[in-house]
Amino acid sequence: MINEYFRLFSFVAVYKRIVIRKTMEKNCTECGTLLRGRVDKKFCSDQCRSAHNNKLKSDDTNYIRNINNTLRRNRKILLDLNPNGKVKVSRQKLMSKGFDFSLHTSTYTTREGAQYHYCYEQGYVSIEKDWVLLVTKKDLEW
Ligand SMILES: [Zn+2]
Repeated sequence: MINEYFRLFSFVAVYKRIVIRKTMEKNCTECGTLLRGRVDKKFCSDQCRSAHNNKLKSDDTNYIRNINNTLRRNRKILLDLNPNGKVKVSRQKLMSKGFDFSLHTSTYTTREGAQYHYCYEQGYVSIEKDWVLLVTKKDLEW
């Protein structure tokens, strides 16, 4: 009986310790080191704080760089397929070259409702279900 009581008691003690550890413990956001001290502390050191901030900054830069690269690639694909300023190509052909339909630099909608998408001065407009007409912007004002 005493034995059983003791076992239950020690179980409760261990359980309490786990709960307390879980609520009190916090780790450095950067390296995972257990933090001591202020509850609102996020980093174990200035090095970890600046390493983390640099990472965030470079993620931001990578995101922008990737978008810019995609826009430039889109422009190049359109330009390569459309050396004379106007040509009909299939969407499939554009996609096979790595064209990304989700990114463009500007749009232009005609009065009839046709929507042109441009990657810089190179653009396209849907003409049939699977076909687009590639065009080149002549007036480069905008
Ligand atoms: Zn750290």
